[in-house]
Amino acid sequence: MFFPTQTFMVAGLSRSGRAAAEYLLSRGAKVLCFDDVEEGSALEAARALGDLGAEIVHREQLAARAAACDVLVLSPGIPIDHPLPLFFKKHEKRVMGEMELGALALRCPCVAVTGTNGKTTVVTMLERIFQAAGKNALACGNIGLPLTAAAQQLNEDALAAVEVSSFQLETLLSLRPHVAVVLNIAEDHLDRHYNMENYIYLKRKLLKNCTESECAVLNHDDAVVRTFSEHTKAHTVWFSGTERVDGAYLDEHFLCFRGEQILSTDDLSLTGEHNRLNALAAIAAAKLFGIQNDAIASALSSFKGVAHRTETVLERGGVTYIDDSKATNVDSCLKALKGLDRETVLILGGKDKGERFEPLFAALKASRVVHAVLCGENCFRLMNAAMGEGFTAVTLCRPFEVAVRVACLTARQGQNVLLSPASASFDAFQNFEERGEKFAALVKEYAPEGEAQEVAADEAPSDGEG
Ligand code: ADP
Repeated sequence: MFFPTQTFMVAGLSRSGRAAAEYLLSRGAKVLCFDDVEEGSALEAARALGDLGAEIVHREQLAARAAACDVLVLSPGIPIDHPLPLFFKKHEKRVMGEMELGALALRCPCVAVTGTNGKTTVVTMLERIFQAAGKNALACGNIGLPLTAAAQQLNEDALAAVEVSSFQLETLLSLRPHVAVVLNIAEDHLDRHYNMENYIYLKRKLLKNCTESECAVLNHDDAVVRTFSEHTKAHTVWFSGTERVDGAYLDEHFLCFRGEQILSTDDLSLTGEHNRLNALAAIAAAKLFGIQNDAIASALSSFKGVAHRTETVLERGGVTYIDDSKATNVDSCLKALKGLDRETVLILGGKDKGERFEPLFAALKASRVVHAVLCGENCFRLMNAAMGEGFTAVTLCRPFEVAVRVACLTARQGQNVLLSPASASFDAFQNFEERGEKFAALVKEYAPEGEAQEVAADEAPSDGEG
């Protein structure tokens, strides 16, 4: 691709759209920018890109200006069946995502990580491991640092740990990861991908370009992910929490890789079975890059987790307040419930993604959750599922602020208040970070008095919930 000869339309001016436009402009391309929203951060991005030489397209000009472009660069937030990409496809013009542009620009080897849950945790672990081994490495992609921006910071001997979402996989063609990791598959994003077959197909796409010289690190414990091994030329290396597989596994109290003990489970800072699996996936990928065991062990033992993932934000009056705002689907909420060490008041609800909630309430009946507070746009769907499953310890209060207050007043000494909503945040917030921050602020205001103690996890910016 020779950029100066082509005219690009960049649609969606969030973090990744902005990075794509900046990259193209720096390469001398003609760039037209468009966003449905013409206020707030999108307007700010449009102005900044205008200053760099981009043409800003307004809604009423869209059809005419799209006709003048050769390539559409789509932000992950815009689905592939939106009228704009359909228009480009109809006229046999190229449609690519920001990540595709980044993949074309990337000069260094990469490990790419997808799956329904755990992506940010695993790419952050990998970034820390690579850095502990003295490498120039960055976690990038869906984690908040767009691949086009990272590609410019990483020279040939660096390493990229790329988080790849199903939204990005819709428009990703060229990425050929040296190591491709698939963590798990559970119901999610059915409002965008329509059905599980399509969602699974997209996740499998990560392995599409891999050849015999690349590796696929796959979760042996996940029945769907296990089948991916049959659909790739890549050499499969497994990870498992239950079996001694060829790859990374648990042996007594150690996380091991092919007969070597890497670190003991007690030395892993993160708790929960799912985080042990995340660590095993990271260990397998790191070993395939030739990283020494001591670098892996020191990075994993000091890694305290990423903000808004089962993060304790306050302890007051014998109650622990936990922010798991990033639990935007049922599976991640179920993982939080599994790790509960005491009785819990759970806050559920937000923007609906078409998931079934019956399995969640069935699990709640056998969990340590003593009460669920239902809020957000999908609170009535949640209520229906709760009643259908006979889980009656619920309070329905649609506004988030009221729900948090009710949860604070309901919890008794010795219990937790857990925000693990199993729903996206976009009904009332910009993103899950804003929801988590609001939760932390509200509990500090509403939690009944006692001795307060604030606790903070590592920070990680993020691009989306996709
Ligand atoms: P992603 O980037 O895939 O959304 P995160 O690491 O941000 O994953 O975690 C999102 C949510 O999923 C959090 O609530 C976290 O506690 C939970 N989680 C993390 N790892 C896993 C896993 N392996 N399986 C299920 N849930 C997980």
